[in-house]
Amino acid sequence: MADNSPPSDRTATPRTPVGSNVFEYAPAPESRSVVDIRASYGLFVGGEFVDGGGTAFKTINPATEEVLAEVAEADEADVDAAVRAARRAYERVWSRMPGAERAKYLYRIARIIQERSRELAVLESIDNGKPIRESRDVDVPTVAAHFFYYAGWADKLEHAGYGTTPLGVAGQVIPWNFPLLMLAWKIAPALACGNTVVLKPAETTPLTALLFAEICQQADLPPGVVNIVTGAGETGRALVAHPGVDKVAFTGSTDVGRAIAKTVAGTEKKVTLELGGKAANIVFEDAALDQAVEGIVNGIFFNQGHVCCAGSRLLVQESVAEELLARLKRRMSTLRVGDPLDKNTDVGAINSAEQLARIRELAEVGEAEGAGRWSPECELPAHGFWFVPTLFTGVTQAHRIAREEIFGPVLSVLTFRTPAEAVEKANNTPYGLSAGVWTEKGSRILKMANELRAGVVWANTFNKFDPTSPFGGYKESGYGREGGRHGLASYLKGGS
Ligand code: NAD
Repeated sequence: MADNSPPSDRTATPRTPVGSNVFEYAPAPESRSVVDIRASYGLFVGGEFVDGGGTAFKTINPATEEVLAEVAEADEADVDAAVRAARRAYERVWSRMPGAERAKYLYRIARIIQERSRELAVLESIDNGKPIRESRDVDVPTVAAHFFYYAGWADKLEHAGYGTTPLGVAGQVIPWNFPLLMLAWKIAPALACGNTVVLKPAETTPLTALLFAEICQQADLPPGVVNIVTGAGETGRALVAHPGVDKVAFTGSTDVGRAIAKTVAGTEKKVTLELGGKAANIVFEDAALDQAVEGIVNGIFFNQGHVCCAGSRLLVQESVAEELLARLKRRMSTLRVGDPLDKNTDVGAINSAEQLARIRELAEVGEAEGAGRWSPECELPAHGFWFVPTLFTGVTQAHRIAREEIFGPVLSVLTFRTPAEAVEKANNTPYGLSAGVWTEKGSRILKMANELRAGVVWANTFNKFDPTSPFGGYKESGYGREGGRHGLASYLKGGS
């Protein structure tokens, strides 16, 4: 089903859907005045902002390329100071505090996140490039929900089944795609279990972690319980290698995950790795097609496709492939790409020039390998990093765009004839993080859920996250689970 339309990751405004009535939106930008971005930021160590000993780096707005702030780059000595602060807080205060008291701090943090949600959402969209609709309605509410959820566990750990003894100091390293949400996934369970933390946000999205540090101050969290060290790979390396760290929690790429696994091998450190994915979103011929189209769009274009569990491989049953693709293209033509702060925007900016270059490179590979490339017509802003939602048809399992994580708004479409073929193709990947199944038959959903080698299988929906539900991968998608009761296991001595 090759489609020879010209590639269109160049320029255009989201177009009126083909064959529908013309409609225009008035811009509805969210105000930036709610955030107060400082010119420069230090590190958050021992409850205070301190100067780093290393150099500083700039964080930019990927939608405009405007420099937002200079941020300290923590060197080894800074990381050491942060780990020592976390150790002192662990031994003197946090591990001795009754769970019910720790819970009060977590509840307080959760409530402050709700109170300052607009500020957090706007700052997240400015620093990351994601649409305000998502940061406001998905990221920040889920962040608050994680703190509420784990606050509830803090005084009930004996019922979780992993004992009540914390590990000590957790060194946590997170990526840029969900900066605040990944922070919440890491910090909330660690603190609930009585650990203290040193967290390193990604170098392109440090600002909301630094605002979270202010929230810790506002909540009167004892100094040193949460420490934030900003920087790039070297800072992360120093943190995970530090002998004073008892637990390493990492979310990011499989390559870096492998390097971390080597660094901690042979030590007593506990490790959880949440890595990449290449999820299959499988549509059977009996599925409600319009509903499936919404799920496909949400699966791959949510957060510009910068989602580890994105439904980046669409497997569609051959008998409905043509009809489904026609509806999908029509729906893609209505997606509005542009200003992340505009409330109408569906697809925001790509997070960095490096990530944009990687997406472009893999899309070119897809074309060179013979897949048919299609994108709706759409005008892109003159500055910033943008990539038009794109689909590739006629993809085979050998194509790189079917095997490698693109981590952008690019969908590879494959077809299948039988459920067994769908399972075989879905599992033919080194990853195993998530999958989607679209069918009217409950029995088929249960069978597929058992046969798919994926940590999460969504049925007739996609990309649903809830703090009560464990999340994690098989194979090269990592090990350990975050979220739910299982998420406590990684932060308690009795856990796996
Ligand atoms: P990345 O691995 O390049 O970076 C992640 C973090 O690790 C950053 O903070 C980075 O500074 C740090 N880092 C880099 N080198 C390091 C080293 N040698 N030692 C320690 N830390 C180091 O990943 P990214 O590009 O920021 O994020 C995208 C990746 O994250 C994708 O592969 C995506 O699938 C994955 N991801 C996975 C999940 C999940 O839950 N499984 C969630 C979100 C993102």
